[in-house]
Amino acid sequence: MAPHPSLTAPKITIGPDPLKPVEQMDPYKLCWCRSGKKYKWCHFRREKQNESNVFELEQQFFSELREGYCSHPAPSPDSPCSTTIIKAHTVQKKGGLSAIAEAGHVLTVKPIMKEMIKTEGNPQPRKIGVKKASVFPGFCSKHDSDLFKPVEGKSLTLGTQTAFLFSYRAVAYEPFSKEGQRQFTLNMREADSGMPFWNQAKLQSFLYDMINGLELGVRDVKCWKDQFDEQLLSGSHDDFHFVAVRFDSILPIVACCAFHPEFDLNGAHLQQLGQDMFELDHVTLTVTAFEGNTVVVFGWIGPQNGPARTLADSFLAIDDSRKADALVRLLFIHTDNVFLRPSWWASLSESSQEVLNDMTRSGTHVRERTGAEFADASIKFITADIIETVSG
Ligand SMILES: [Zn+2]
Ligand SMILES: [Zn+2]
Repeated sequence: MAPHPSLTAPKITIGPDPLKPVEQMDPYKLCWCRSGKKYKWCHFRREKQNESNVFELEQQFFSELREGYCSHPAPSPDSPCSTTIIKAHTVQKKGGLSAIAEAGHVLTVKPIMKEMIKTEGNPQPRKIGVKKASVFPGFCSKHDSDLFKPVEGKSLTLGTQTAFLFSYRAVAYEPFSKEGQRQFTLNMREADSGMPFWNQAKLQSFLYDMINGLELGVRDVKCWKDQFDEQLLSGSHDDFHFVAVRFDSILPIVACCAFHPEFDLNGAHLQQLGQDMFELDHVTLTVTAFEGNTVVVFGWIGPQNGPARTLADSFLAIDDSRKADALVRLLFIHTDNVFLRPSWWASLSESSQEVLNDMTRSGTHVRERTGAEFADASIKFITADIIETVSG
């Protein structure tokens, strides 16, 4: 494959221009933090206001997030939405999540504020009930069960149709996830109440950059969803491609996500984010279980031989007995919509846990993503073999 043109494109700086915090301004002018409110109702004397309760802000955010909508692209008079928006599972509860659950629970790596503060930004995976794990209010009950019936049964045939549905669910989930993060970050702008001015300035500048980045992210994932909607409605999957494998056993991990492939599993740089001259490839990744086996599906709409294919091929090229380890690395690096079997996590050495926890911070404000972490096969996390490989 020729190198992706984004790799040599000039980087854009996120955000039109940085915030310019000022200690005093005209009370009736728009506030320097660009919240859209007048200074008088925003940062005026914020240092004298009561300290905000970040837990309350977090709770407020969770209750806003509970209201959802159906992601079906074209509910018709023949097939209208049902009245209830359900908590749709991104990884099916029966078979998938329950296959790795212990006493009705799995572990999630999605941090909550309390843990972040308690552990000084180094939270451990925490328990979550399978009913709550991997859910998003993204489909009405009718469309959730109609659309995904072929991939919700006891057994699964790996092919274009089923791979497409797994990918579709992943791209339906990502706009919720990204929009949720954006809303949360917007809410966090209130968290500097009672802080001295320079801390307000620091926090607001940090959040401002983050919000700009998340807005670009929301825009991208909505665009992926549009492409998938078109194929869902037309039923033609011409430029949908996939690579799927079946393991000989159940891996202690399930997941569902979509992302821009940045590095392959050899650590080769595939495409550069943060440039706006070239369109970037996306890929979806679903990991779930059927009848005693874990199934992994990479799927994407786009070029047959672009970055998504290179990533999937680098996975196929890994020795079968080490594929599960590569998969674990890829998931920890790219998504927090990943769930773990509690006893497996507990069985890992402290240093292996630390390596994985560190991977969850890859590509965040904490640290940059590196090719080396994708390729680092020094740690064995899971032993399993492959019994089926299908691609299209
Ligand atoms: Zn303000
Ligand atoms: Zn619906």
